[in-house]
Amino acid sequence: MFTIVRSNDIQLIQFRLLQDLGINHCITTRPGGVSRPPYESLNMAFHTGDDPDAVCENRLRACEVLGYPLEQLVAGEQVHGDAVHVVSAADAGRGACDRESAVQNTDILLTNTPGILLASFYADCVPVLLADPIRQAVGVAHCGWRGTQAEAPRRALEAMAAFFGTDVADVRVVIGPSIGPCCYEVSDQMKRTFCDQFGHHVVLGRMLDLRLANQITLERVGVPAAQILTAPFCTSCQKELFYSHRAHGGKTGRFAALIGL
Ligand SMILES: [Zn+2]
Repeated sequence: MFTIVRSNDIQLIQFRLLQDLGINHCITTRPGGVSRPPYESLNMAFHTGDDPDAVCENRLRACEVLGYPLEQLVAGEQVHGDAVHVVSAADAGRGACDRESAVQNTDILLTNTPGILLASFYADCVPVLLADPIRQAVGVAHCGWRGTQAEAPRRALEAMAAFFGTDVADVRVVIGPSIGPCCYEVSDQMKRTFCDQFGHHVVLGRMLDLRLANQITLERVGVPAAQILTAPFCTSCQKELFYSHRAHGGKTGRFAALIGL
């Protein structure tokens, strides 16, 4: 299902579903970076309060293992929304070395430009990585509960159809490491809201399954179930490997989902 690419202490997770298509991608993990507690050690995001120089060094290291120059990375300024930005060559490097130049107010990044590396950042929210091997396009959607409720994966696929001519039947999707239904306790009101929208299977007792909600959105839009992979990692259970907003009490780093052609 997945492989781990190791270089020095860095461990990047890659998924066969996307590897088989030749799509460059990974989920970063915590070891092998330079950030100090509570961000130790491969914190990939600036907005956490970590030393920006440490974040730059961490990103350089991860990009190097993946074989991309950091200048080709493009990041969005995530706001738990459903806005889409189609990344072109002119965007290369936006948000790569600072927070200010990132694509503002954007949780969904798409591109069909080879050499661009899309980046988004996580500590419990759901990374949704998308690839269209026919039209040669990729994307990433940052789906917390708000993005899930806004059906951000649907927005991503609608935009891929509009901009790249993507047919949803061709799309492969990885639902990445995120807080699992084992650890994501929510209010009664939130349970009701999600049950109404996605069906009762997304709630287990007091727990919400955000990944399943996103999978349901993807299937409703028309992505074949066999082309959707949910990664078997809970960020809260495996907090030594990933960052978890809940498990670490809010003050922590972010791992990254990276994808490019
Ligand atoms: Zn868990």
